[in-house]
Amino acid sequence: MPMNSLPDTLDAVSGLDLHMHSTASDGALTPGALVALCHSRGVTHMALTDHDTLAGVDEASAAAERLGIRLLPAAELSAQWRGMTIHVVALLPTGLSAEMNEALATQAEARIARSKEIARRLEAIGLENALAQAREQAGSERPLGRPDFARALVEAGIVPDMTTAFKKHLGAGKRGDVKAHWPYLSDVIDWTLQSSGIAVLAHPLRYGLTRRKRGLLLDAFTEAGGEAAELVSGFQNADVTRDLARQLDERGLYGSLGSDFHFPGGHLAPGSMSPAPRCALPPVWCHPRMRDFAG
Ligand code: AMP
Ligand code: MN
Ligand code: MN
Ligand code: MN
Repeated sequence: MPMNSLPDTLDAVSGLDLHMHSTASDGALTPGALVALCHSRGVTHMALTDHDTLAGVDEASAAAERLGIRLLPAAELSAQWRGMTIHVVALLPTGLSAEMNEALATQAEARIARSKEIARRLEAIGLENALAQAREQAGSERPLGRPDFARALVEAGIVPDMTTAFKKHLGAGKRGDVKAHWPYLSDVIDWTLQSSGIAVLAHPLRYGLTRRKRGLLLDAFTEAGGEAAELVSGFQNADVTRDLARQLDERGLYGSLGSDFHFPGGHLAPGSMSPAPRCALPPVWCHPRMRDFAG
């Protein structure tokens, strides 16, 4: 096996992380600092997956090149399916297409319109100047996300911490969970395919779905052209992972792995996640369009 090439089973891999965030979205590290941290932790293969943007990819690629890391351009795209927000990691081995470029511009506009709506709804529960407060928390001109509003709620003393902010006001089904602006799941998958990319269903265990409903989501995702799903996202129960592997295998999906790292100091770090079980699921890096990355 040539040096630096990836194994052909999910359980045998190390030094790989296909889901991480930088300051281009809601992560704490600049793209360059994230790549440097990956390098220091022995991560050799990575994808930068900022929410709805590839703005961090140029800086990350330059750093990765310097440090001898393989980096995939990617984005975690927000979508809606049956009234829920679903995340799709678009892995883009050949980079940005005109279609994806246009789609990301639409996503940026959707995020702006959504921020105004979230602000309006949070002002109704006492967060004054909500948009300006969230912008101050973001500390830059990057697109706003719910974590910025969560921090603004904490700062204003309306909730004690981020967890409570999501639990009471911003999490699934709460007033600040505005999803009407997001495109349909099938559209997001289309854009990814038009870019010769691979659509990966992000963290299938984190939507609060029953096994049966998760099966329906996986069916819809597969029918629309989705080709992979994250078998492991951060830390998860081993029995649940084995069961998820069965659900993915039944649909002929590839498996992906990622930490969903956002900031240092928490329980996650680049490249750290539960081990994948031995299973028949092919790794997403064995997809024919991922050959250059895996090599
Ligand atoms: P958005 O992209 O604006 O919909 O914001 C979603 C992001 O909020 C996720 O990607 C996480 O980074 C963050 N998030 C979601 N749930 C929680 C939570 N319970 N506590 C802290 N952050 C969360
Ligand atoms: Mn996030
Ligand atoms: Mn996500
Ligand atoms: Mn993420």
